[in-house]
Amino acid sequence: MLGLYVHIPFCSAICNYCNFNRGLFDAALKERYVAALLHEIRRSGGPSTALGAGGAAADTIFFGGGTPSLLDPSEIGEIIAACRGAFALAADAEITLEANPETISPERLDGFRAAGINRLSYGVQSFRDDELIRLTRLHSASRAADAFQMARAAGYDNISLDLMMWLPQQSVAHWLESVDALIALGPDHASLYMLEIYPNAPLKDAMARGRWSVAPDDDVASMYLSGLDRMDNAGFLQYEISNTAKPGRQSRHNLKYWMDGEWLGFGCGAHSTRHGVRWKNQSSTEEYISAVTTGGQLETERRVLSAEERVEEALFTGLRLNAGLDLEAVKMRYGVDVWGQFGGELQMFVDEGLLIYDGGSVRLTRAGMLLAHDIMAVFIRSSVR
Ligand code: SF4
Repeated sequence: MLGLYVHIPFCSAICNYCNFNRGLFDAALKERYVAALLHEIRRSGGPSTALGAGGAAADTIFFGGGTPSLLDPSEIGEIIAACRGAFALAADAEITLEANPETISPERLDGFRAAGINRLSYGVQSFRDDELIRLTRLHSASRAADAFQMARAAGYDNISLDLMMWLPQQSVAHWLESVDALIALGPDHASLYMLEIYPNAPLKDAMARGRWSVAPDDDVASMYLSGLDRMDNAGFLQYEISNTAKPGRQSRHNLKYWMDGEWLGFGCGAHSTRHGVRWKNQSSTEEYISAVTTGGQLETERRVLSAEERVEEALFTGLRLNAGLDLEAVKMRYGVDVWGQFGGELQMFVDEGLLIYDGGSVRLTRAGMLLAHDIMAVFIRSSVR
């Protein structure tokens, strides 16, 4: 089934490390944007669209951003209703809202739930105030904990929390404080990411001014491994390099990206993949609104993925999962004998304890996940036939 992604590009402030497609909240612009989104969704579900997606079955909606929780609950409700009108949305669809703690109140949580949201994903990043201040986040650690408790009180039984490691001035002990604080709250899902500081990030300047540094590589490995160990001990099951969940609480939407699934993205900069074709909407909010409302060029990149690209991507994304690559499934779908073709190069990673090959599947060990890019590079160096 399809996943539907809805991009909301507005934030109350711009964090100093953020490289996403977002801009400052503007109420008038938001109104025009939501109107355009509704138009795009209704139109793409039509029976005569090039997508052939009209009435197609979908079982997830994911509001990502930006800060989707800045929308009014009534707007979220309208967008979900448009998705229901355009697609055959499963009765048990997973409908996720990314939320920032400072945007949340009991009333808004009730409104989002009434609108159809059944999963919340809070961007917490850290449970230490000094780290949140360095990242220019608008919430404190206690505000994040309150937002979590408010959501539980409002009846949300599927809540994810995001944390970031390798923050400026963060030690292994500081990182584990955040992991422990997350575990103490008892979410259903957690994403543990490494901060990547892009070249022109304002955070770089702040680090230079403040003489802040990041932990050495050995400590990052320790953060990753010890953080996940603690999650294991608390009853979470890691299912992807950066994601861990209570049993049955994996993100159904994100699994589509990693399991060779199909999805449609709505809104500025949103990507879609369907029937082996990939495209991306205009990134600029204004250009997106203009394209949708005037019938202009909405897609900026559209290409038919070659057989080689499809296989490479299936190998890359499949290896991100703890379950690894099902070699028989890849052979059935793409006619590629993964071990026959790449086994020679992959064997050294098996010998080093970074990869497990059991005849039916290939999967990364946790130590291998730290070097995933190097291991996956094998699939690029050797051309897929
Ligand atoms: S809230 Fe999220 S999307 Fe918005 S600026 Fe901060 S990191 Fe970026």
